[in-house]
Amino acid sequence: MAETPAPGIFLCPHCGSDAEANIRTTLSVPLVPPDHAWDPVFELRHCESCGATLPVHLAERWGGIDAAEARRQWQETFRDSSPFPPFHWRLSLPTG
Ligand SMILES: [Zn+2]
Repeated sequence: MAETPAPGIFLCPHCGSDAEANIRTTLSVPLVPPDHAWDPVFELRHCESCGATLPVHLAERWGGIDAAEARRQWQETFRDSSPFPPFHWRLSLPTG
């Protein structure tokens, strides 16, 4: 198994890639209903390899979790409920 990088270093909990897309997203308004798993998520990271959009606390492993725990939380809570299709940031770039 791959080592867990230091907290704050991108690692995709979906595919294990360390290739972060050249974009970061901060939501200013909720995209999902208040009872949705993604409701507390406002800081997003994006995987250049698989196109997953990821909660930053999993992609950068905040709160002392390791890569295995981030992967577990991704699979159990966030993956199947994600409102973001793969590579969505390329499909719908903000036009300012
Ligand atoms: Zn990935």
